[in-house]
Amino acid sequence: MADIINLLPDNIANQIAAGEVIQRPASAVKELLENAVDAGATEIQLIIRDAGKELVQVIDNGSGMSDTDARMCFERHATSKIRSIDDLFQIRTMGFRGEALASIAAVAQVELKSKRQDDELGTFIEIDNSVIRRQEPCQAPVGTSIAMKNLFFNVPARRNFLKSNAAEMRHIVDEFIRVALAFPHLQFSLNSNGQQMFHFEKGSLKQRIVSILGQHYNSKLVTVKESTDYMNIHGFVGKPETAKKTRGDQFFFVNNRFIKSSYLNHAVMNAFAETIPSDSFPLYVLFIDLDPAHVDINVHPTKQEIKFDDERILYAFVQSAIKHALAQFSVTPALDFDLDPGIQQLDALTQPFTEEKKAQSTGTSIYKTFTSANQAHVIDKTANSNLQHWKELYGPPPARDNDFPLPPPSEFPAAPTSTASVIDERWQEAAHDQKGPVQVHQQYILSQIKSGFILVDQRSAHERILYERYLRALAEKPIATQQSLFPQTLELLPADAIIVHEMLPDLQALGYDLEPFGQHTFVVRGTPADIQSGNEQASIEGLLEQFKNFSTELKHNRRERLVRSMARNNAIPSGKPLTSREMQNIIDELFACSMPNVSPGGRGTFISFKLNDLEKMFDRGF
Ligand code: ADP
Ligand code: MG
Repeated sequence: MADIINLLPDNIANQIAAGEVIQRPASAVKELLENAVDAGATEIQLIIRDAGKELVQVIDNGSGMSDTDARMCFERHATSKIRSIDDLFQIRTMGFRGEALASIAAVAQVELKSKRQDDELGTFIEIDNSVIRRQEPCQAPVGTSIAMKNLFFNVPARRNFLKSNAAEMRHIVDEFIRVALAFPHLQFSLNSNGQQMFHFEKGSLKQRIVSILGQHYNSKLVTVKESTDYMNIHGFVGKPETAKKTRGDQFFFVNNRFIKSSYLNHAVMNAFAETIPSDSFPLYVLFIDLDPAHVDINVHPTKQEIKFDDERILYAFVQSAIKHALAQFSVTPALDFDLDPGIQQLDALTQPFTEEKKAQSTGTSIYKTFTSANQAHVIDKTANSNLQHWKELYGPPPARDNDFPLPPPSEFPAAPTSTASVIDERWQEAAHDQKGPVQVHQQYILSQIKSGFILVDQRSAHERILYERYLRALAEKPIATQQSLFPQTLELLPADAIIVHEMLPDLQALGYDLEPFGQHTFVVRGTPADIQSGNEQASIEGLLEQFKNFSTELKHNRRERLVRSMARNNAIPSGKPLTSREMQNIIDELFACSMPNVSPGGRGTFISFKLNDLEKMFDRGF
């Protein structure tokens, strides 16, 4: 029998390996920008055509490369940044492992031009499919330009996998902004299809944040800054009033590398807990610096997840730093918020970590007090009237657990008092018409039907109703727009603005009257007639957030996602008191739907209880 094992040819092996590093145009954007930063550039241009499918080019004024390095840099494991495995754990530059350029060269056509300061001439290289086609001397400014053309031209299956231009562009903008935030002292620009999308001058972090998120943030940022021997944190959080219904402007950098960490995010949310509504997201741009030996970020170049030696310390540190910052900006001048010297001296913060130390330090009492409420930098909620106030405004209404069963009519006041709340009205209506629907725990509607009764989940039911209404709006008859008396401007994150642009026609049919106004801004002239005026902005932000949540569900097309997002976003929430009439309307409309029994997301909308079954239940003894 013949032997059956082959070695893959280099270019195929490279293509396979490249797939891990370069998944989409935005991956190349990240790698090329980081290389430019590593090369000491102070001005970096990103040029995109066709959402990066045709061209991703980065031009920098950094160190440049020699002829040989320019050839070498496309080899797998070619890097000037590490020499030994130990380096991998001490690395502070952005790139590592020397895989990016080799990967790009394996899956695209690449042109590189580079010149060093002291060289007379630069060098030009053309390479595709990992093969150098041409290298010659050329005139060039100091620095490097790398152009990646026709990504995946040689791997059609991958090319087909790319998303719409809007989606790919969104990823590119995300990467661009992350790098631009991490290096505010460098100049960055982004040009897409010949149009300048961004130009950021060198400046402070605050200036960079404001030029990305909008001028109105200038007075809305709170400085965060704490240092210990173990780690530092610096950056900004938005004042509580800037918290939005849509996640997005939240950035964590560890040793200047963007990371995603739901754990650290939780620490921030916790620090904000008393100051913002629970369903909204504060802005933050935070940089944590610690000895790279304590961080395992080198798992994989495309990974944004991160592992720390001891997460709990980091959590407590982040949370207290932010509480501290928020307290300083608000009202408690009397409290001394200097980081407790006890923490500064905490073994864990001053010494390198070992398993044994970890066990020791978490056992000490000082560690315990670090996270507990008697530390100076932990805010005493009762001492802070402002925070209390926020809670009153946004906290959930006090639970009413006496909603059911219905008290006998005699117990109802004869006439509504002047302070009668919606809830009181509802009781009275219910009392007059015992057969009418009754709300239970502000969440379910109980309605008697001939064969028994049904229990309707108000939220899922309304979502179903709206979903079908919106589908009809897109198919047949647009929803009426209610013009706003005072058009509002809506300033969005660049990536969100792209989504909104993409959806404009559909939004129109659904009753939103939006008009682009500047790069990432829209004027909201009207909203669907059933949205309360004054809520325009929140309604659109909520919608965007929903839309982004759904965007991972590939099976739905964009319209479907939009309709589902709107239905979910505009549905009556659980916890909302309803009048009899509102309840009756929900029931009537629900049963006029083509699929009344499930919400668009597949949740049940009602459960029916048949008299027969009830009988049997009682017979069985429960
Ligand atoms: P890594 O960044 O991990 O070293 P890359 O494949 O991204 O690997 O780059 C390989 C090498 O090419 C780098 O180590 C660097 O020496 C050189 N290089 C890449 N981009 C540039 C650039 N813009 N300017 C100067 N040198 C560069
Ligand atoms: Mg690199």
